[in-house]
Amino acid sequence: MDSRLHSLAKFYVALDQKLQPLTRNCGPCGECCRRAAGLQVYPLELQYISRFVQKPRAMHKFINFINNKRVKIWGETAGQCPFQLGDYCSIYAVRPYFCRIYGPYNLRGKNLLPGCVYDGHSITYFDRKELPLYDQFLDLVQKPNHLYHRRC
Ligand code: SF4
Ligand code: SF4
Repeated sequence: MDSRLHSLAKFYVALDQKLQPLTRNCGPCGECCRRAAGLQVYPLELQYISRFVQKPRAMHKFINFINNKRVKIWGETAGQCPFQLGDYCSIYAVRPYFCRIYGPYNLRGKNLLPGCVYDGHSITYFDRKELPLYDQFLDLVQKPNHLYHRRC
């Protein structure tokens, strides 16, 4: 594996450990993947996901993030992430940073959907610098021509 992808894999392990005390059981919900308005994904994360994904059509929507192209990854009608399978994430092991922090961290205390199990249990943040291991994450993924689409 490319060394940066290897570093990203290690980073996700460290991030998940950091988030673990805050993690709650979503059960069969998936509403945030079905209804969220946007998701920021970095090209390095896309590379990492593409090694895992066996669904070229769904991957194509993610790939459009590369080269600073701002696109929707959500379906036009349902607002559903192409990687959602039933109520679950089909790429859970390789999901991006912002999918991992959604729930445990809550932008301005207003970003959770009604009925979310994290409601009342999340950490409110106002600036991304407050997110866990965020500087480390940026060091890893942020290079020229990288861009995003926001959810958090
Ligand atoms: S990548 Fe997975 S966790 Fe992230 S929005 Fe899509 S289905 Fe949900
Ligand atoms: S984070 Fe909240 S909205 Fe998303 S799947 Fe879990 S319970 Fe549902």
